[in-house]
Order: sequence, then structure tokens, then C-alpha cells
Amino acid sequence: MSEAGKINILSQLFFNEELSRDNSGSLTEKLSKAKKAGLEKLIIWSVRPEYLSPLVSICRDVGVSPHLWYPMLADTPVDFDTDAFKIVRTIESGRSEILESQKAGGEEFEFLCPNKISQEEAFLSRFEEILGLADFDGVFLDRIRFPSPANGIGEMLTCFCDTCKERSSATGSAFEEAIHGFLRKLGSKRGMDEVLETLKEFYIITGEFLEFRRSSVLQLLTQYSDRAKNVGLEVGVDLFSPSLRNIVSQDYERISRHVDWMKPMIYCKTMGPAGLPMELLSLAQILVDHALRLSEREALEIIGELTGLLLPESFEEIRMSGIDQKNYVLELNKIDQMNLNPVTRIFPGFEAVNIPPVCSVGLDEVGNYVEATLRKGHDGFVLSWDIRHISDKILEYVGDLVE
Ligand SMILES: [Zn+2]
Repeated sequence: MSEAGKINILSQLFFNEELSRDNSGSLTEKLSKAKKAGLEKLIIWSVRPEYLSPLVSICRDVGVSPHLWYPMLADTPVDFDTDAFKIVRTIESGRSEILESQKAGGEEFEFLCPNKISQEEAFLSRFEEILGLADFDGVFLDRIRFPSPANGIGEMLTCFCDTCKERSSATGSAFEEAIHGFLRKLGSKRGMDEVLETLKEFYIITGEFLEFRRSSVLQLLTQYSDRAKNVGLEVGVDLFSPSLRNIVSQDYERISRHVDWMKPMIYCKTMGPAGLPMELLSLAQILVDHALRLSEREALEIIGELTGLLLPESFEEIRMSGIDQKNYVLELNKIDQMNLNPVTRIFPGFEAVNIPPVCSVGLDEVGNYVEATLRKGHDGFVLSWDIRHISDKILEYVGDLVE
């Protein structure tokens, strides 16, 4: 077993049901096993906040440090209507890859606007209220970003609400114009080179608005992390994988100056939002839908070229087997190149769950992730994303690997 503090093993709990004697018993059992394998922190999301306190007690009983998992801009746990705070699109939504089964599981992935939220004190008060519901050691801020490709192109290229228009002034209308111009142009382009050139051009001319989006996310994050730190809590943050960070406007370098630890979500085998397979497939689908006669293979090649990731040649292959785990190391390498706050710790997150059809990994995959993380010199990782779907076998195996 690792010495305390040497390798930090973290995991998560998504709780969306009644808390009964039965499931609290099985959770205690699971956490005790995980504790033996070295689990230090558990990040807890309970759709019903009244269960936070008993869930935290279970953690305390087995000696695991409880942290609140707080979704900020989608599935936000406020007790009032959030319709007026939704992001505003300028083009049609387009198709979304998010599975109905995921939505049925209690996560809607409907995004609110960071600029509208930061103006409304009621969101921050609710956050503080929930922080006060139980004896947490820290908070983990999630969904603090703009919508990803999995939400469809319309939501990905936002926000055009009145607040954003006002705050971004002329860059907002320039962005709107650029989007319409980009789609018109893309519709007349064929072949890899032309499409690639159009994408690069779009990225350059929208630079100012993208900076506005990154600052919007950062500003909101700072507000919340300051409040949490004021009451003595440690702050962690869930981040999109490095290759996708610009698309959702998460600036690792600046964010690292406001949090204690960051979890880059480097999921190579997950067909769910934030999972590289779903997000990259969604991007490729957007290209195929909008460019003139672009093949799946060409779309994937373009995305491979832009991200530097190793991608399969067909959509079907991504759907069936995700992407090569070598990409995990490629993503960690990108983090090495960043100018992060040296005291902020990086705990990479990878999937360790069995939740078909979204994700099923076995010992081999989890072993590869753990070994790669340790080889890169990181002193912790997050077994994502729901401990109750991580088998005892995997927990024991991880425990042996960090010994
Ligand atoms: Zn907005």
C-alpha cells in the first residue's frame, strides 16, 4: 500500500435515488474496499441535496475525505427555474450525440450562460447553502465551460444572449457573422485541404470572441472558488481533455492559478459527453454534415491533424472501441507543455467503470492508465466517474499497482 499522501487516489459518486438502508450498506462496503486499495477522496454529487449529509457521514466512517461535486453550468442544483439563464444560439442546434439513456439517468446537459450566472447572486447563495449542508473537505467544480461538440454545433458556438452581447460588444456580432460565413464557406468546400484551411481561418478570425469566452468561464470560476476557499475548502475542477479545452473555453493555465487541483478528463473509451470518442466523433460528424462530400475518414483525418491525436478511420470503429489509449499519454504530454501554477496538482481522470453502452473498461485498460499516469510523474488520479460502477476487482488491482 502506498504511504499516505504519496499517491492520491480519488473517485466520484453520482447519487440519484432514495438513500435506503440497503444502498447505504452497500456503499459503505464499496468504500471500505476502495479505502483498502488507497482511496483518499470521494467527490459526491447527490441529485437530492438532503442526502449529502448522510453520504458524507458514510465517508467519514470509513476514513475517506468527502468533497462536494458541484455542476455549475448544466444540471445546476438550484431550486428555481433556470430557463432565463440558458445559453442563446445563433444557428440551429444540429444533431446531438448525447444518448437519451444518459438524459434519463438524471443529467440533462442543458447549458446556462456563465455571464448571466455570474450576475445573479441567487446561484452563488445556493452554492454556499449546499456547501453548508455537510462537513466537506473540499469542492469539485464541474461543467464550468461552454457546451461541447456532443451538444451539437448550434450550442457549441454560443453565447448570444443580451448579457454576452453587451459584455463582448463588437466581438460578439463579429463572431455571429463569422459563424454564418464559416458555414456558407464550408458548404462549398471539398476535400481535406480546403476544409482544414477553412477551419483554421475560422479559428483565427474568431480569436477575440474565444478569448471573451475563456475569460467569462474564468471569471465565474474565480467567484466560486474564492467563496469556497473563504470557508476553508480545497478546490478542484473538472476540465476537458487538453485537445478539447479551446473548444469549450477552458484555459488550463489561468484556471490553475485559482484552484488547488485539476482533473483533466482523459477518457479514451467513453461514449458520453466529455469522453474523447463522443466529442471527437461529434466534431467529425459536424464536418461531414456541413462540408461538401467529405468522407468519414477524411473528417477524422482532419481532426487528427488538428489535435495530434491518433484516431481510427471510421465512425463505427470509434463507436465500438473508442480511441487508442496511447492518446492518454499524448494528452498528458500537452499538459507538460503548459505554464501551470507549479503548486496546483494534476490528478488525471480516466474511466474505470462498467456502464454499457456508455463505457466498459477492464483490468487491462485501467492498468494502462494507472501505469502511464505514474510514469509521467503524477502523484494521483481520479477513478472516474462513479465508484459504485467500478468493480471490486479493478479497485484491488489499482491498489496493487500503487503499492
Ligand atoms: Zn450569454
